Amino acid sequence: MKPTAWLALLAAATVSACAQPSPEQQIINDAAAALGGRDRIVAAKTLVIEGEGMNGNLGQDVTPEATSQAFNLTGYRRAIDVPAGRQRIEQTRTPNFPYFQGQQPQKQVLGVDGNVGYNVAANGTAARVADAAANDRRAEIYHHPLTIVRAALDPAAKATNPRTEGNQSLVDITIPGGQTLTLAIDGSTKLPARVVSRTSNTNLGDVVIETSFADYQDVNGLKLPARLTTKTDDYTTVDIRVATQTVDGDTGDLAAPAAAASAAPIAAPPPATVTVEDVAKGVWYLAGQSHHSVLVEFADHLTLIETPQNDTRALAVIAKARELRPDKPLTHVVMSHHHFDHSGGIRAAVSEGLTIIAQKAAAPLLEEVVKRPATIAPDALARNPQPLKLETVDEELVLTDKTMTVNLYHIAGNPHSDTLLMAYFPRERLLVEADVFNPGAAVSPYAANLGDNIKKRNLRIDRFVPLHAKIVPYAEFTKVVPATSTN
Ligand SMILES: [Zn+2]
Ligand SMILES: [Zn+2]
Repeated sequence: MKPTAWLALLAAATVSACAQPSPEQQIINDAAAALGGRDRIVAAKTLVIEGEGMNGNLGQDVTPEATSQAFNLTGYRRAIDVPAGRQRIEQTRTPNFPYFQGQQPQKQVLGVDGNVGYNVAANGTAARVADAAANDRRAEIYHHPLTIVRAALDPAAKATNPRTEGNQSLVDITIPGGQTLTLAIDGSTKLPARVVSRTSNTNLGDVVIETSFADYQDVNGLKLPARLTTKTDDYTTVDIRVATQTVDGDTGDLAAPAAAASAAPIAAPPPATVTVEDVAKGVWYLAGQSHHSVLVEFADHLTLIETPQNDTRALAVIAKARELRPDKPLTHVVMSHHHFDHSGGIRAAVSEGLTIIAQKAAAPLLEEVVKRPATIAPDALARNPQPLKLETVDEELVLTDKTMTVNLYHIAGNPHSDTLLMAYFPRERLLVEADVFNPGAAVSPYAANLGDNIKKRNLRIDRFVPLHAKIVPYAEFTKVVPATSTN
């Protein structure tokens, strides 16, 4: 070979080496090429997806492991304006299970516009959602092949940590604005297989949100998936079958409604308000907001029924209990059932050293919840780790000493949840229960089964002490379930 040829070859090799994309860039380039090419992707500004599907019922099914309850979705429409940072999902959801609000279809609008997340109620009223929810919705914009690859192609985006998992190539993408998501592409087709992000869940601590893509089809010169399935860890929360999708079509107005845009940001759950109502000697109703608790005084210790919702509510209720009877230690919490709104304060209760009493089918969830890390939004238990102290109840457990008796009974066979405990005070003729009888509710789909359980146990009740609503005489229950009066 002549020297000039050597030089030419060397030059070509050098150019090739310089032009060789980094492994992380290669994954993005491969995905872009598979989807329809860089130019076509960058030019795409909006996307409208219409179809139907389902929403899961994370944390609210009959048992912690159950997955049968879902909301069927019709009229699903997800409109995204990528450069504007806006997304709005409109859908009508219909529960496939006995739902506390009834089983009629319910229209929902779930939006995000920059930093403002909002919901629009069926009556048209818009409300701003918490910043944490808005943040999750901003991430959700990028849980789509077109939006994540488009963001990755932005020169201001940062791609790191290229790797392979099975047949997929993965790369982390930090998009302008700061959120980091993982893009996984199929090793053969190079099409995006999934997008993964991480967030914090009140009950579960750190969780992974993963959307997988399937059934790619040709849309306006792009390949886009017709099936999108989103999970929180292993639990399917959204599954969409796309009927039509449009790139750069009419999205409609995606701006946050004025009522939400002008509302103050919601950085944290609202401060807890804990009211105190004497129910009987040694029994207090700790209410004030949506989820109530009951404090019970024994001879040498105190027991709470329910530390609900989140750290804020649970710690406020615990503090109120200690304030009411500072001379006796608060030692136990009875959890009404595993549903996330009622168990959301369990990590806080464990951090305070309390022993949890729960129906045995809730035990695996409690064990899992207490050992999970919460590094993204460290909570009371993350700051003060404590072991779980758990006492389980199968069908019944009697808490008694010389001053107080409380019978805990499993509410068997209730369609709302199979981990429900009710607390019966035989001397005071009180029944504490959550969700299965909500005085004043428009529908009571779970009350008949509660009536069966009351009858089976032959309970003599003067007053219901519900963990929602307010204390009512037994007569209010017989209005709802007339056939089961035992009084
Ligand atoms: Zn519930
Ligand atoms: Zn409830």
